[in-house]
This record gives sequence, C-alpha cells and structure tokens, in this order.
Amino acid sequence: MDIKLEFLMGADAIVSSLSVKAGDQVKAGDELLQYEASKGILPILAPADGIVEEVLVDQGDRIVLNDVLVRMDTDTGCKETAAGNRSTPVKKCREEKADLLIIGAGPGGYEAAIYAAQNGLKVILAEARTVGGTCLNEGCIPTKALNKGARTYQDILKAAKMGIEVPHPQINMPRLIEWKDEVKETLVSGILGLLKNHSVKLLAGTARFLSGNEVVVEQEEGQVHVSAGNIIIATGSKSAGLRIPGVQLPQVMDSREALSLKKLPSSITIIGGGVIGMEFAFIYHSLGVSVQVIEYLEGILPMVDKDISDRLRLIAERKGILIQTGARVSRIENGLNQEAVVIYEKDGKEAFAVSEKVLMAVGRVPDYETLNIEAANIETRRDRRGIQVDGHMQTNRPGIYAIGDVNNILQLAHAASHQGMAAVRHILKMDGGEKQDIVPNVIFTMPEIASVGKTEMDCQKDGISYEVYKFPFSGNGKALIMGDTDGFVKLVKDRVTDEIIGGSIIGPDASTLINSITELVQFHIRQRDASEVIFPHPTTGEAISESILGLGIGALHSVNKKEEHIIHAVD
Ligand code: NAD
Repeated sequence: MDIKLEFLMGADAIVSSLSVKAGDQVKAGDELLQYEASKGILPILAPADGIVEEVLVDQGDRIVLNDVLVRMDTDTGCKETAAGNRSTPVKKCREEKADLLIIGAGPGGYEAAIYAAQNGLKVILAEARTVGGTCLNEGCIPTKALNKGARTYQDILKAAKMGIEVPHPQINMPRLIEWKDEVKETLVSGILGLLKNHSVKLLAGTARFLSGNEVVVEQEEGQVHVSAGNIIIATGSKSAGLRIPGVQLPQVMDSREALSLKKLPSSITIIGGGVIGMEFAFIYHSLGVSVQVIEYLEGILPMVDKDISDRLRLIAERKGILIQTGARVSRIENGLNQEAVVIYEKDGKEAFAVSEKVLMAVGRVPDYETLNIEAANIETRRDRRGIQVDGHMQTNRPGIYAIGDVNNILQLAHAASHQGMAAVRHILKMDGGEKQDIVPNVIFTMPEIASVGKTEMDCQKDGISYEVYKFPFSGNGKALIMGDTDGFVKLVKDRVTDEIIGGSIIGPDASTLINSITELVQFHIRQRDASEVIFPHPTTGEAISESILGLGIGALHSVNKKEEHIIHAVD
C-alpha cells in the first residue's frame, strides 16, 4: 500500500523527521513521519496494521501533493514479531487459522492431512523441505529404486543361464541416479496434486511453537502465524551418526549422501549392520562394489527372527560381503592414498578396514530440535528419545499429537501413516485406529526379509506354548522359475488357541507375501481355518499355504519334516 501526501495547504512541504524504517511493524494510527508545511508540523499516520516495506523520503526532503512517502504491507495481522521487538526489522507476517495444523509432510503427515480433509477438517500442512519427507525423498523410495537397478543388473548377468545373452552389460551410475530421482519426482508431484484436490493448504517453511495452540512458520518471504484447534507433529527423524574421530572426513557419508553418489566406489565399509546398513550392503555388492559391514552387536539385524538373520548372514557371506560382528568402531583415519581406514575393536584387539568410501548407518534419532516444543510444554520420553504420546498419539498437551519417527515407537513409514489416521480419528472423536500392535516389517535385502507378529524368541520370552513350521522356497515351483530358492517361510502358532500369531519370511516376494500373514495374525485366524484358504498355483504364496499345513496335518511338499517343524510346549 502506498502512503501518499494527500493533504497540503501551499505548494510544498519539508520532511522534518522519520519515525519508522523499512521492516518495522506498525499499528493503525502509529506515526510514520512528520512534515512541516505552512500550517506547522503535521504527522503522517499508518492507515492500518502492517509492515513498513520502504521509506521513500529522507529527513529534509521537499515533498508535494500525492508524493508516495512510505510503502507498507498491510496484508498482515500477526500479534507478535519474530524477536518480539519493534526495533528489530521483521519480515512480512500474516495469520492463518485451521482446524488442524500438521507439521511435517512425510508419509505420516501428508496422509493424515488427506484423511483429515476427507473428514471435513480445514487442514494446514507445514513442510520445511519437500513433501514426501525422508521416506520418499531420501529413504524408502530412492533406496528401493536403487535396489531395483542393482537387481536388474544381476538379472542381466545371470540371464545367460536361460539363454538370454547380453554381452558386456555396463552400469551407467549417473543415469541410475537420475532415474531414481525421476521416480521420486513423479511421486512428489502426485502428492502435491492430492493435497490440492483435498484443499489442504501447504505452507513451505520451518514451523516452531509459540504456544500450545500457535505456531509460526518461517518462510523465505516472511512469517505465517498459524492458530489451530489441533496440531499433529510429524517431523520424523535424522541420521544419528557416531561421535568418533574422523566422521568429518570426506570419504564418510550418511544414507542421504549415498543415494546421490554418481560414481560407484570400488569398495565401501558400512558401519552398522541394521536395516539401512544391510539394504545398502546388498545394493552396493550387486553393483560390483566390494563391501564390508562392521556391526557392534553379536549379530546383524537384531530385530528379526534369529533364523532369518542367520540365514541372511550366510547368504551375504556366500556372495562375498564381509561381515564383522561384535566389533565397535572407534575412529576413522585417512589412508596414504586418501582411502578411509575404519578402526574397530573386536575380541579385545584392534583391527581395521580400508575402503574408498564409508557409509554411516548407526540409527536415526527423532527430529524435534527446531520445533521449540518447550513453548507448548510438550513432554518428551523419559530417555529423551522422542515425544511422549498415549495410545491415541496424543501428547501430554490435549489437542497436540505426535506421530511417526518423532515419537520413536516404530521407525517405519507405514506405522507413521497409521498413527496419523489414529490421531485424526481421536480429534474427530471417531472410534478405532488405536490398535497398532500388528505392524509388518520389511527389509529390502537380497533376498527380502519380512515379518509380522510374534517371533519364536518372543514366544519363549513370553512363556507361550507355540509351534513353528518352516517351509523352504526350494520346494516352491515359482521360486525355482525365478531362480530365487534361497530362504523360507516360518509361521508361528499358539498351541493353546490354535491361532497363527506370527510369521517371518526370507526369500522371493517376501515384501508382498507378508500381507497374507498379517491378515491371519491381525484377525486371529486359527490354523485349521487358515488351511482352508486357497493360494493360487504357481505362486510363491504357496510357501505360506504349505507352512499353514505344516502346522497341522503336514506340508505336502516337505522333504525334511524334523528340521522344519518345532514344537515348544509350555505346561
Ligand atoms: P538400526 O538401528 O536398524 O541399525 C543400526 C546398527 O548400527 C545397529 O545394529 C547398531 O548395533 C549398529 N551400531 C551402532 N553403533 C555402532 C558402532 N560404533 N560400531 C558398529 N556398529 C554400530 O538403524 P539404521 O539401519 O540406521 O536404520 C534407522 C531406522 O530406519 C531403523 O529404525 C529402521 O527400521 C528404519 N528403516 C527402515 C527400513 C525399512 O523398513 N525397510 C529401511 C531403512 C531404515
């Protein structure tokens, strides 16, 4: 808005003093400047609340009627400035109101936003970077795209076995990275379209609490003060890293950097044999990189059934991936030829691994540092690793929820999505959504691993009388056609209730097959009822059907009944 000299007796006047400068926030009626005319000294007042964008005159300037003196932005109504102090220049500021503000547009946040909008809420979604969050931009999706590239390369190398000959296959790494980015971008634009279709207002910027019901979103062009009846925090997690000497060396990367590496290293040391470490180990190995994994615990993938992690280790080592367990990395040094030297302790002795690159994959920590949750008195967990929530994902502050990695219940994208819907249901006083104990888990190694419900070890720990049956993919026709017979389906049954209470898979299609087992577990299906389900032929799903039979009358294509069937009775 231009503030002009609109009233003047006489030909001209002189600016006698300035009361504001660019960036100042003013209220309607505040003095902007004074000028001296034939009638004496008169003020120019702000016609509305706003921010001074520009002062176009100086003290002593001669002004005439209709001269523009000050330019103001009156599209503002914020009650508070960033510094809470009028003398500090503040940026443009405006206010927004919503029924629900969601902070973070990862799979937890953006899906909750759509679900809430479907249910009639006015939703604002604040995102500091790109919609889709870590999962879509630098986690689940890009790693699976690279995984697909690596598998395709391996399939081509093995194709001669079935008479398909491809001479000299080459990996064009920059193109693989570009293709991965294209997949990602397609999904990002899809989400933007969905948000628009559901009238979810997206605010690009970093959110920070001002109080329990007001949040400021810092944007490049200014601030937006959002007041909302309910708030969902969905800010995810960030790479943990190790506090050891050498982590700053240029050879050391986290998973985010690894996803954009356009030149394949000849060798890599991966610190951490967890989910990220093992997924990358198989990707790099399949692309021809020499891989060594160094894991602190006594085994890799400690969260999965031990039979499964032992089998994966065997498969990895057979392929040539070196794995050191019970090994604590203490420092990283520069080698003579700029290679990285990772020094670790194992069995009381110091050992080292030399490689061109190092990938740090030692876990992720909840990301709420910049949120200023103290202003809203939001409590964190006792170990301070995550925001504390109840079964509805509500924090100690009614109306404020925390979902996904930031509450640190389960660092899985699909858990975050489900938790987001549970939070929205609670806001809307709808039933359901709080049942979140049966969450399937997939690890995209080669072969894939998937699990749901109780493992054999959980049963032993909980004193459950159980029965386990393992059916190998070597007895499955489709797996043989796929050239992927390594692995098995392992089902767990409660001997008292006859219900299928858990299952783990290592082998082809594990990521898809786990859906069937999830339904059996979620809906407490008994073995005798599950054995009536017809699985089509020839599919890898028949390995599930065989395992179900194995827990009853016996699998039809079983060769080693003793090894495959374990009964553990608890009296
Ligand atoms: P993680 O917790 O799975 O594994 C980290 C590993 O690093 C642990 O096994 C730990 O013992 C080891 N470690 C820690 N300090 C060490 C040291 N000094 N020396 C050697 N080893 C050390 O964490 P992550 O692999 O970074 O994954 C982070 C999270 O992201 C996980 O919760 C995971 O579930 C999730 N994620 C899921 C998927 C999926 O669902 N497919 C994929 C990637 C990541």
